[in-house]
Amino acid sequence: MRITHFVNGNAWNGKADRTGEVFNPATGEVTGHVDFASNAVVDEVVASAQKAFEEWRSTSIAKRTQILFAFREILNARKEEVAALITAEHGKVLSDALGEVTRGQEVVEFACGIAHLLKGGYTEGASTDVDVYSIRQPLGVVAIISPFNFPAMVPMWFFPIAIAAGNTVIVKPSEKDPSAINLIAQMWKDAGLPDGVFNVVHGDKIAVDRLIEHSDVKSISFVGSTPIARYIYEKGTAQGKRIQALGGAKNHMLVLPDADLDLAADAAVNAGFGSAGERCMAISVLVAVEPIADALIEKIKERMLKLNTGDGTKGSDMGPLVTRVHRDKVASFVDAGVNEGAKIVVDGRNPKVNGASNGFWLGPTLFDQVSPQMSIYKEEIFGPVLSVVRVKTYNEGVSLINAHPYGNGTAIFTNDGGAARKFQNEIQVGMIGVNVPIPVPTAYYSFGGWKASLFGDTHAHGTEGVHFFTRGKVVTSRWLDPSHGGINLGFPQNN
Ligand code: NAD
Repeated sequence: MRITHFVNGNAWNGKADRTGEVFNPATGEVTGHVDFASNAVVDEVVASAQKAFEEWRSTSIAKRTQILFAFREILNARKEEVAALITAEHGKVLSDALGEVTRGQEVVEFACGIAHLLKGGYTEGASTDVDVYSIRQPLGVVAIISPFNFPAMVPMWFFPIAIAAGNTVIVKPSEKDPSAINLIAQMWKDAGLPDGVFNVVHGDKIAVDRLIEHSDVKSISFVGSTPIARYIYEKGTAQGKRIQALGGAKNHMLVLPDADLDLAADAAVNAGFGSAGERCMAISVLVAVEPIADALIEKIKERMLKLNTGDGTKGSDMGPLVTRVHRDKVASFVDAGVNEGAKIVVDGRNPKVNGASNGFWLGPTLFDQVSPQMSIYKEEIFGPVLSVVRVKTYNEGVSLINAHPYGNGTAIFTNDGGAARKFQNEIQVGMIGVNVPIPVPTAYYSFGGWKASLFGDTHAHGTEGVHFFTRGKVVTSRWLDPSHGGINLGFPQNN
Protein backbone atom coordinates (compact mmCIF):
# COMPACT_ATOMS: atom_id res chain seq x y z
CA MET A 1 0.00 0.00 0.00
CA ARG A 2 1.20 3.51 -0.81
CA ILE A 3 0.82 6.17 1.86
CA THR A 4 1.19 9.73 0.62
CA HIS A 5 0.81 13.37 1.59
CA PHE A 6 -2.56 15.08 2.07
CA VAL A 7 -2.42 18.49 0.43
CA ASN A 8 -5.13 21.02 -0.19
CA GLY A 9 -7.88 18.52 0.64
CA ASN A 10 -6.59 15.66 -1.49
CA ALA A 11 -4.04 12.88 -1.64
CA TRP A 12 -0.90 14.15 -3.34
CA ASN A 13 -0.67 12.87 -6.90
CA GLY A 14 3.04 13.32 -7.61
CA LYS A 15 5.76 10.72 -7.63
CA ALA A 16 8.10 10.56 -4.62
CA ASP A 17 11.88 10.41 -5.07
CA ARG A 18 12.24 8.57 -1.78
CA THR A 19 9.95 6.33 0.28
CA GLY A 20 10.15 4.45 3.58
CA GLU A 21 8.93 1.01 4.57
CA VAL A 22 6.07 0.64 7.03
CA PHE A 23 5.83 -2.59 9.04
CA ASN A 24 3.24 -4.53 10.92
CA PRO A 25 5.33 -5.04 14.09
CA ALA A 26 3.28 -8.08 15.11
CA THR A 27 4.20 -9.99 11.94
CA GLY A 28 7.40 -8.28 10.81
CA GLU A 29 5.89 -7.83 7.33
CA VAL A 30 6.18 -4.68 5.22
CA THR A 31 2.61 -3.46 4.82
CA GLY A 32 3.17 -0.16 3.07
CA HIS A 33 5.52 2.40 1.62
CA VAL A 34 5.29 5.99 2.72
CA ASP A 35 6.33 8.85 0.47
CA PHE A 36 9.09 11.08 1.83
CA ALA A 37 8.67 14.74 0.98
CA SER A 38 11.39 16.65 -0.83
CA ASN A 39 11.90 20.38 -0.29
CA ALA A 40 9.66 21.05 -3.29
CA VAL A 41 6.80 18.99 -1.84
CA VAL A 42 7.08 20.77 1.52
CA ASP A 43 6.98 24.10 -0.32
CA GLU A 44 3.85 22.97 -2.16
CA VAL A 45 2.15 22.01 1.10
CA VAL A 46 3.14 25.26 2.81
CA ALA A 47 1.82 27.24 -0.16
CA SER A 48 -1.52 25.41 0.08
CA ALA A 49 -1.74 26.11 3.81
CA GLN A 50 -0.73 29.75 3.36
CA LYS A 51 -3.38 30.27 0.68
CA ALA A 52 -6.06 28.74 2.90
CA PHE A 53 -5.03 30.89 5.85
CA GLU A 54 -6.39 34.21 4.57
CA GLU A 55 -9.93 32.89 4.32
CA TRP A 56 -9.81 30.63 7.38
CA ARG A 57 -8.58 33.35 9.73
CA SER A 58 -11.53 35.53 8.77
CA THR A 59 -14.09 32.74 8.96
CA SER A 60 -16.28 33.53 11.96
CA ILE A 61 -15.72 31.77 15.26
CA ALA A 62 -19.26 30.44 15.02
CA LYS A 63 -18.57 28.75 11.68
CA ARG A 64 -15.18 27.41 12.77
CA THR A 65 -16.77 25.95 15.87
CA GLN A 66 -19.48 24.20 13.85
CA ILE A 67 -16.77 22.43 11.86
CA LEU A 68 -15.01 21.40 15.05
CA PHE A 69 -18.21 19.91 16.41
CA ALA A 70 -18.77 18.03 13.13
CA PHE A 71 -15.19 16.72 13.24
CA ARG A 72 -15.70 15.57 16.83
CA GLU A 73 -18.78 13.58 15.82
CA ILE A 74 -17.03 11.91 12.87
CA LEU A 75 -13.98 11.07 14.95
CA ASN A 76 -16.13 9.66 17.70
CA ALA A 77 -18.09 7.51 15.25
CA ARG A 78 -15.00 6.22 13.45
CA LYS A 79 -12.45 5.99 16.24
CA GLU A 80 -12.24 2.18 16.02
CA GLU A 81 -10.94 2.60 12.46
CA VAL A 82 -8.23 4.99 13.63
CA ALA A 83 -7.34 2.59 16.45
CA ALA A 84 -7.07 -0.34 14.02
CA LEU A 85 -4.61 1.61 11.85
CA ILE A 86 -2.53 2.45 14.91
CA THR A 87 -2.39 -1.18 16.05
CA ALA A 88 -1.46 -2.33 12.55
CA GLU A 89 1.54 0.00 12.30
CA HIS A 90 2.57 0.73 15.89
CA GLY A 91 1.73 -2.64 17.46
CA LYS A 92 0.00 -1.41 20.64
CA VAL A 93 -3.05 -3.47 21.59
CA LEU A 94 -6.41 -2.30 20.25
CA SER A 95 -7.85 -1.15 23.58
CA ASP A 96 -4.76 1.00 24.13
CA ALA A 97 -4.99 2.46 20.63
CA LEU A 98 -8.63 3.31 21.27
CA GLY A 99 -7.65 4.95 24.55
CA GLU A 100 -5.16 7.15 22.71
CA VAL A 101 -7.80 8.33 20.23
CA THR A 102 -10.21 9.07 23.07
CA ARG A 103 -7.62 11.17 24.91
CA GLY A 104 -6.95 13.09 21.69
CA GLN A 105 -10.67 13.62 21.23
CA GLU A 106 -10.76 15.37 24.61
CA VAL A 107 -8.65 18.14 23.09
CA VAL A 108 -11.10 18.44 20.18
CA GLU A 109 -13.88 18.83 22.74
CA PHE A 110 -11.87 21.46 24.59
CA ALA A 111 -11.27 23.34 21.33
CA CYS A 112 -15.02 23.37 20.64
CA GLY A 113 -15.09 26.02 23.40
CA ILE A 114 -12.70 28.27 21.49
CA ALA A 115 -15.13 31.20 21.56
CA HIS A 116 -14.66 31.49 25.29
CA LEU A 117 -10.92 30.81 25.10
CA LEU A 118 -10.27 33.60 22.58
CA LYS A 119 -12.07 36.29 24.52
CA GLY A 120 -9.92 39.27 25.34
CA GLY A 121 -10.27 41.94 28.01
CA TYR A 122 -11.94 45.33 27.70
CA THR A 123 -11.38 48.34 29.91
CA GLU A 124 -13.72 51.22 29.38
CA GLY A 125 -12.33 54.60 30.36
CA ALA A 126 -8.71 53.55 30.99
CA SER A 127 -7.90 57.19 30.40
CA THR A 128 -10.35 60.00 29.85
CA ASP A 129 -12.52 58.94 26.89
CA VAL A 130 -10.01 56.20 26.07
CA ASP A 131 -10.78 52.46 26.07
CA VAL A 132 -8.22 49.64 26.03
CA TYR A 133 -8.86 46.10 24.89
CA SER A 134 -6.97 42.97 23.97
CA ILE A 135 -7.49 40.52 21.13
CA ARG A 136 -5.77 37.29 20.15
CA GLN A 137 -5.07 36.46 16.52
CA PRO A 138 -3.83 33.29 14.77
CA LEU A 139 -0.18 32.92 13.75
CA GLY A 140 -0.65 31.62 10.19
CA VAL A 141 0.72 28.29 9.00
CA VAL A 142 1.76 26.13 11.94
CA ALA A 143 3.64 22.82 11.82
CA ILE A 144 3.30 19.80 14.08
CA ILE A 145 6.02 17.14 14.07
CA SER A 146 5.06 14.02 15.96
CA PRO A 147 6.64 10.80 17.27
CA PHE A 148 5.77 7.18 16.52
CA ASN A 149 4.36 6.31 19.91
CA PHE A 150 1.10 8.26 19.70
CA PRO A 151 0.32 8.69 16.00
CA ALA A 152 -3.16 10.12 16.71
CA MET A 153 -3.12 11.59 20.21
CA VAL A 154 0.06 13.65 20.02
CA PRO A 155 -0.96 15.54 16.85
CA MET A 156 -4.36 16.02 18.51
CA TRP A 157 -2.69 17.76 21.46
CA PHE A 158 -2.12 20.62 19.05
CA PHE A 159 -4.16 20.77 15.86
CA PRO A 160 -7.70 21.11 17.30
CA ILE A 161 -6.70 24.31 19.10
CA ALA A 162 -4.55 25.56 16.23
CA ILE A 163 -7.40 25.16 13.75
CA ALA A 164 -10.06 26.50 16.10
CA ALA A 165 -7.93 29.61 16.66
CA GLY A 166 -7.80 30.28 12.91
CA ASN A 167 -4.43 28.85 11.90
CA THR A 168 -3.77 26.43 9.08
CA VAL A 169 -1.89 23.27 9.93
CA ILE A 170 0.74 20.94 8.52
CA VAL A 171 1.32 17.68 10.38
CA LYS A 172 4.55 15.75 9.78
CA PRO A 173 3.86 12.43 11.49
CA SER A 174 6.39 9.72 12.28
CA GLU A 175 7.35 7.78 9.19
CA LYS A 176 6.99 4.57 11.23
CA ASP A 177 3.18 4.71 11.56
CA PRO A 178 1.88 7.28 9.08
CA SER A 179 -1.61 5.99 8.19
CA ALA A 180 -3.75 7.14 11.14
CA ILE A 181 -3.20 10.83 10.42
CA ASN A 182 -4.29 10.43 6.80
CA LEU A 183 -7.64 9.04 7.94
CA ILE A 184 -7.95 11.96 10.34
CA ALA A 185 -7.25 14.34 7.43
CA GLN A 186 -10.12 12.78 5.50
CA MET A 187 -12.37 13.24 8.55
CA TRP A 188 -11.59 16.96 8.58
CA LYS A 189 -12.59 17.18 4.94
CA ASP A 190 -15.81 15.28 5.66
CA ALA A 191 -16.51 17.68 8.53
CA GLY A 192 -16.47 20.58 6.08
CA LEU A 193 -13.05 22.04 6.79
CA PRO A 194 -11.96 24.07 3.77
CA ASP A 195 -9.18 22.54 1.68
CA GLY A 196 -5.68 23.54 2.72
CA VAL A 197 -6.51 24.18 6.38
CA PHE A 198 -5.32 20.73 7.47
CA ASN A 199 -2.44 19.13 5.56
CA VAL A 200 -0.18 16.15 6.10
CA VAL A 201 3.35 15.92 4.82
CA HIS A 202 5.19 12.63 5.29
CA GLY A 203 8.93 12.22 5.50
CA ASP A 204 12.06 12.46 7.56
CA LYS A 205 14.73 15.02 8.46
CA ILE A 206 14.54 16.65 5.03
CA ALA A 207 10.87 17.53 5.48
CA VAL A 208 11.41 18.63 9.07
CA ASP A 209 14.32 20.90 8.18
CA ARG A 210 12.38 22.49 5.35
CA LEU A 211 9.43 23.18 7.64
CA ILE A 212 11.74 24.86 10.13
CA GLU A 213 13.48 26.94 7.48
CA HIS A 214 10.37 28.00 5.55
CA SER A 215 9.54 31.63 6.26
CA ASP A 216 5.77 31.03 5.96
CA VAL A 217 5.78 28.45 8.77
CA LYS A 218 5.26 30.47 11.92
CA SER A 219 5.56 27.88 14.66
CA ILE A 220 6.67 24.33 15.31
CA SER A 221 5.12 22.00 17.86
CA PHE A 222 7.50 19.08 18.14
CA VAL A 223 7.26 15.91 20.19
CA GLY A 224 9.99 13.25 20.11
CA SER A 225 13.34 12.34 21.58
CA THR A 226 15.40 14.89 23.50
CA PRO A 227 18.31 15.28 21.05
CA ILE A 228 15.92 16.08 18.19
CA ALA A 229 13.76 18.31 20.42
CA ARG A 230 16.83 20.33 21.38
CA TYR A 231 17.87 20.57 17.73
CA ILE A 232 14.42 21.77 16.64
CA TYR A 233 14.28 24.31 19.44
CA GLU A 234 17.71 25.75 18.71
CA LYS A 235 17.25 25.83 14.94
CA GLY A 236 13.69 27.12 15.12
CA THR A 237 14.29 29.90 17.63
CA ALA A 238 17.34 31.00 15.61
CA GLN A 239 14.88 31.54 12.73
CA GLY A 240 12.67 33.62 15.03
CA LYS A 241 9.95 30.98 15.17
CA ARG A 242 7.72 30.13 18.05
CA ILE A 243 8.75 26.64 19.24
CA GLN A 244 7.46 24.14 21.76
CA ALA A 245 9.62 20.99 21.67
CA LEU A 246 8.70 18.16 23.97
CA GLY A 247 11.44 15.59 24.51
CA GLY A 248 12.16 12.27 26.18
CA ALA A 249 11.52 11.04 29.68
CA LYS A 250 12.56 8.80 32.55
CA ASN A 251 9.58 8.70 34.87
CA HIS A 252 10.04 7.66 38.48
CA MET A 253 7.41 6.26 40.82
CA LEU A 254 8.21 6.78 44.48
CA VAL A 255 6.56 4.24 46.79
CA LEU A 256 6.54 5.12 50.49
CA PRO A 257 6.39 2.42 53.17
CA ASP A 258 2.78 3.27 54.08
CA ALA A 259 1.48 2.82 50.50
CA ASP A 260 -1.10 0.23 49.53
CA LEU A 261 1.33 -2.24 47.96
CA ASP A 262 -1.29 -3.99 45.83
CA LEU A 263 -2.34 -0.67 44.32
CA ALA A 264 1.30 0.27 43.77
CA ALA A 265 2.09 -3.09 42.15
CA ASP A 266 -0.90 -2.80 39.80
CA ALA A 267 0.15 0.73 38.90
CA ALA A 268 3.79 -0.20 38.28
CA VAL A 269 2.81 -3.03 35.94
CA ASN A 270 0.16 -1.01 34.08
CA ALA A 271 2.36 2.05 33.65
CA GLY A 272 5.59 0.13 33.10
CA PHE A 273 4.42 -2.29 30.44
CA GLY A 274 1.33 -0.72 28.84
CA SER A 275 2.09 0.02 25.17
CA ALA A 276 5.27 -2.05 25.69
CA GLY A 277 6.74 0.85 27.66
CA GLU A 278 6.68 3.07 24.56
CA ARG A 279 4.95 5.94 26.31
CA CYS A 280 6.57 9.20 27.29
CA MET A 281 4.65 8.90 30.58
CA ALA A 282 5.56 5.24 31.16
CA ILE A 283 6.99 4.46 34.58
CA SER A 284 10.51 3.18 34.00
CA VAL A 285 11.96 3.52 37.51
CA LEU A 286 10.31 2.41 40.72
CA VAL A 287 11.92 3.98 43.77
CA ALA A 288 11.07 1.83 46.78
CA VAL A 289 11.55 3.36 50.21
CA GLU A 290 12.65 0.48 52.47
CA PRO A 291 11.59 -1.80 54.04
CA ILE A 292 8.96 -2.53 51.37
CA ALA A 293 11.09 -3.37 48.30
CA ASP A 294 11.10 -7.17 48.68
CA ALA A 295 7.35 -7.39 49.23
CA LEU A 296 6.57 -4.98 46.41
CA ILE A 297 8.86 -6.71 43.92
CA GLU A 298 7.21 -10.04 44.72
CA LYS A 299 3.77 -8.57 43.97
CA ILE A 300 4.99 -6.98 40.73
CA LYS A 301 6.62 -10.23 39.63
CA GLU A 302 3.39 -12.22 40.27
CA ARG A 303 1.47 -9.81 38.07
CA MET A 304 4.11 -9.72 35.33
CA LEU A 305 4.16 -13.48 34.99
CA LYS A 306 0.46 -13.38 34.14
CA LEU A 307 0.89 -10.84 31.32
CA ASN A 308 0.21 -12.08 27.85
CA THR A 309 2.49 -10.65 25.15
CA GLY A 310 1.24 -10.93 21.58
CA ASP A 311 -0.51 -9.53 18.56
CA GLY A 312 -2.50 -6.46 19.56
CA THR A 313 -5.51 -7.64 17.59
CA LYS A 314 -5.73 -10.91 19.54
CA GLY A 315 -6.66 -9.74 23.03
CA SER A 316 -3.07 -9.61 24.30
CA ASP A 317 -2.03 -7.39 27.23
CA MET A 318 1.11 -6.11 25.54
CA GLY A 319 2.08 -5.88 21.89
CA PRO A 320 5.41 -5.88 20.05
CA LEU A 321 7.89 -3.02 19.79
CA VAL A 322 7.56 -0.67 16.87
CA THR A 323 10.50 -1.82 14.70
CA ARG A 324 13.12 -4.53 14.78
CA VAL A 325 15.83 -1.89 15.24
CA HIS A 326 14.05 -0.48 18.28
CA ARG A 327 13.40 -3.97 19.69
CA ASP A 328 17.10 -4.80 19.41
CA LYS A 329 18.08 -1.50 21.01
CA VAL A 330 15.84 -2.16 24.02
CA ALA A 331 17.14 -5.76 24.28
CA SER A 332 20.69 -4.40 24.30
CA PHE A 333 19.77 -2.25 27.32
CA VAL A 334 18.63 -5.42 29.09
CA ASP A 335 22.00 -7.03 28.28
CA ALA A 336 23.75 -3.91 29.60
CA GLY A 337 21.73 -4.03 32.84
CA VAL A 338 22.82 -7.61 33.45
CA ASN A 339 26.45 -6.79 32.63
CA GLU A 340 26.44 -3.75 34.90
CA GLY A 341 25.33 -5.85 37.86
CA ALA A 342 21.60 -5.20 38.20
CA LYS A 343 19.60 -8.23 39.35
CA ILE A 344 17.22 -9.44 36.64
CA VAL A 345 14.01 -10.61 38.32
CA VAL A 346 11.92 -11.21 35.17
CA ASP A 347 13.76 -11.59 31.86
CA GLY A 348 11.73 -10.71 28.74
CA ARG A 349 14.40 -11.47 26.17
CA ASN A 350 12.87 -14.76 25.00
CA PRO A 351 9.17 -14.26 25.53
CA LYS A 352 6.40 -16.76 24.92
CA VAL A 353 4.27 -14.95 22.39
CA ASN A 354 0.75 -15.16 21.07
CA GLY A 355 1.67 -14.06 17.54
CA ALA A 356 3.85 -14.55 14.47
CA SER A 357 7.45 -15.59 15.01
CA ASN A 358 8.84 -12.66 12.98
CA GLY A 359 7.17 -9.99 15.14
CA PHE A 360 9.32 -7.49 17.03
CA TRP A 361 8.85 -9.12 20.42
CA LEU A 362 10.34 -8.39 23.79
CA GLY A 363 8.59 -9.47 26.98
CA PRO A 364 8.21 -7.45 30.19
CA THR A 365 11.49 -7.22 32.10
CA LEU A 366 12.10 -6.32 35.74
CA PHE A 367 15.42 -5.32 37.31
CA ASP A 368 16.14 -4.98 41.02
CA GLN A 369 19.22 -3.45 42.70
CA VAL A 370 19.58 -0.79 40.00
CA SER A 371 21.97 2.03 40.84
CA PRO A 372 22.03 5.57 39.40
CA GLN A 373 25.36 4.95 37.63
CA MET A 374 23.94 2.19 35.40
CA SER A 375 22.96 2.93 31.80
CA ILE A 376 19.51 1.38 32.38
CA TYR A 377 18.94 4.09 34.98
CA LYS A 378 20.50 7.03 33.17
CA GLU A 379 19.11 6.54 29.66
CA GLU A 380 15.59 6.57 28.29
CA ILE A 381 15.00 2.94 27.20
CA PHE A 382 11.47 3.35 25.79
CA GLY A 383 10.58 -0.31 26.11
CA PRO A 384 9.06 -2.80 28.59
CA VAL A 385 11.85 -2.57 31.14
CA LEU A 386 11.18 -1.54 34.74
CA SER A 387 14.06 -0.80 37.12
CA VAL A 388 13.78 -0.84 40.90
CA VAL A 389 16.05 1.47 42.88
CA ARG A 390 15.99 0.95 46.65
CA VAL A 391 16.35 3.98 48.94
CA LYS A 392 16.31 4.36 52.71
CA THR A 393 14.28 7.55 53.04
CA TYR A 394 11.75 9.82 51.31
CA ASN A 395 14.44 12.53 51.06
CA GLU A 396 16.84 10.17 49.32
CA GLY A 397 14.10 9.30 46.80
CA VAL A 398 13.29 12.96 46.08
CA SER A 399 16.99 13.86 45.64
CA LEU A 400 17.40 10.98 43.20
CA ILE A 401 14.44 12.07 41.08
CA ASN A 402 15.48 15.71 41.14
CA ALA A 403 19.01 14.86 40.02
CA HIS A 404 17.80 13.09 36.87
CA PRO A 405 18.09 15.21 33.69
CA TYR A 406 14.56 14.36 32.57
CA GLY A 407 11.50 15.82 34.26
CA ASN A 408 8.41 14.73 32.37
CA GLY A 409 6.16 12.85 34.81
CA THR A 410 6.47 11.29 38.25
CA ALA A 411 4.21 9.63 40.79
CA ILE A 412 4.10 9.11 44.53
CA PHE A 413 2.27 6.23 46.15
CA THR A 414 1.37 6.84 49.79
CA ASN A 415 -1.56 7.13 52.17
CA ASP A 416 -0.02 10.18 53.80
CA GLY A 417 -1.55 13.39 52.44
CA GLY A 418 1.17 15.51 54.03
CA ALA A 419 3.90 13.51 52.31
CA ALA A 420 2.12 13.78 48.95
CA ARG A 421 1.76 17.53 49.38
CA LYS A 422 5.43 17.93 50.27
CA PHE A 423 6.34 15.85 47.22
CA GLN A 424 4.28 17.94 44.80
CA ASN A 425 5.98 21.03 46.14
CA GLU A 426 9.57 19.76 46.14
CA ILE A 427 9.79 17.65 43.03
CA GLN A 428 11.40 19.11 39.87
CA VAL A 429 9.06 17.49 37.35
CA GLY A 430 6.24 18.91 35.22
CA MET A 431 3.44 16.40 35.81
CA ILE A 432 2.78 14.67 39.12
CA GLY A 433 0.55 11.75 40.02
CA VAL A 434 -0.59 11.09 43.57
CA ASN A 435 -1.53 7.40 43.64
CA VAL A 436 -1.94 7.82 39.85
CA PRO A 437 0.88 6.35 37.76
CA ILE A 438 0.38 8.04 34.37
CA PRO A 439 -0.64 11.59 35.24
CA VAL A 440 -1.44 12.82 31.72
CA PRO A 441 -3.38 16.03 32.38
CA THR A 442 -6.88 16.35 31.04
CA ALA A 443 -7.29 18.55 27.95
CA TYR A 444 -8.18 21.77 29.80
CA TYR A 445 -4.89 21.63 31.73
CA SER A 446 -1.58 21.68 29.88
CA PHE A 447 0.78 18.81 29.16
CA GLY A 448 4.52 19.25 29.45
CA GLY A 449 7.63 18.31 31.34
CA TRP A 450 10.56 20.22 32.81
CA LYS A 451 14.31 20.12 32.20
CA ALA A 452 15.39 17.93 29.25
CA SER A 453 11.76 16.87 28.67
CA LEU A 454 10.66 20.21 27.17
CA PHE A 455 12.37 23.05 25.32
CA GLY A 456 10.38 26.25 25.07
CA ASP A 457 8.12 27.76 27.66
CA THR A 458 4.66 26.71 26.55
CA HIS A 459 3.13 23.35 27.31
CA ALA A 460 0.65 21.53 25.07
CA HIS A 461 -3.13 22.11 25.08
CA GLY A 462 -5.21 23.83 27.76
CA THR A 463 -4.93 27.60 27.92
CA GLU A 464 -1.17 27.39 27.24
CA GLY A 465 -2.05 25.77 23.90
CA VAL A 466 -4.38 28.65 23.07
CA HIS A 467 -1.63 31.13 23.88
CA PHE A 468 0.89 29.25 21.77
CA PHE A 469 -1.32 29.30 18.69
CA THR A 470 -2.33 32.96 18.98
CA ARG A 471 -0.61 36.31 19.25
CA GLY A 472 -1.84 39.02 21.55
CA LYS A 473 -2.66 42.55 20.46
CA VAL A 474 -3.76 45.44 22.60
CA VAL A 475 -5.81 48.29 21.19
CA THR A 476 -5.98 51.71 22.82
CA SER A 477 -8.83 53.65 21.24
CA ARG A 478 -10.50 57.01 21.47
CA TRP A 479 -13.50 57.98 19.46
CA LEU A 480 -13.38 61.62 18.80
CA ASP A 481 -15.44 63.98 20.87
CA PRO A 482 -15.45 67.76 20.66
CA SER A 483 -12.80 68.21 23.40
CA HIS A 484 -9.55 68.03 21.42
CA GLY A 485 -6.43 68.07 23.61
CA GLY A 486 -4.20 69.90 21.15
CA ILE A 487 -0.52 69.19 20.44
CA ASN A 488 1.49 67.38 23.21
CA LEU A 489 4.81 65.68 22.40
CA GLY A 490 5.18 64.12 25.86
CA PHE A 491 4.85 60.34 26.42
CA PRO A 492 1.13 59.54 26.67
CA GLN A 493 -0.05 59.22 30.29
CA ASN A 494 -3.38 58.01 31.50
CA ASN A 495 -5.44 60.77 33.00
P1 NAD B 1 12.17 10.83 17.23
O1 NAD B 1 12.81 11.97 17.91
O2 NAD B 1 13.04 9.80 16.60
O3 NAD B 1 11.19 11.33 16.06
C1 NAD B 1 10.22 12.33 16.30
C2 NAD B 1 9.95 13.07 14.99
O4 NAD B 1 11.15 13.70 14.56
C3 NAD B 1 9.51 12.15 13.86
O5 NAD B 1 8.49 12.80 13.13
C4 NAD B 1 10.77 11.97 13.04
O6 NAD B 1 10.51 11.76 11.67
C5 NAD B 1 11.49 13.29 13.24
N1 NAD B 1 12.95 13.14 13.19
C6 NAD B 1 13.67 12.04 13.48
N2 NAD B 1 14.98 12.29 13.32
C7 NAD B 1 15.09 13.57 12.94
C8 NAD B 1 16.19 14.42 12.63
N3 NAD B 1 17.46 13.98 12.70
N4 NAD B 1 15.94 15.68 12.28
C9 NAD B 1 14.69 16.15 12.21
N5 NAD B 1 13.60 15.38 12.49
C10 NAD B 1 13.80 14.12 12.85
O7 NAD B 1 11.19 10.16 18.31
P2 NAD B 1 10.36 8.81 18.18
O8 NAD B 1 11.30 7.66 18.30
O9 NAD B 1 9.42 8.88 17.06
O10 NAD B 1 9.46 8.90 19.51
C11 NAD B 1 9.90 8.48 20.77
C12 NAD B 1 10.44 9.63 21.58
O11 NAD B 1 9.45 10.63 21.72
C13 NAD B 1 10.82 9.23 22.99
O12 NAD B 1 12.01 9.88 23.34
C14 NAD B 1 9.66 9.75 23.83
O13 NAD B 1 9.95 10.02 25.18
C15 NAD B 1 9.33 11.00 23.09
N6 NAD B 1 7.98 11.44 23.39
C16 NAD B 1 7.85 12.50 24.23
C17 NAD B 1 6.59 12.94 24.58
C18 NAD B 1 6.42 14.10 25.50
O14 NAD B 1 5.31 14.52 25.69
N7 NAD B 1 7.47 14.65 26.08
C19 NAD B 1 5.46 12.32 24.04
C20 NAD B 1 5.63 11.25 23.17
C21 NAD B 1 6.91 10.81 22.85
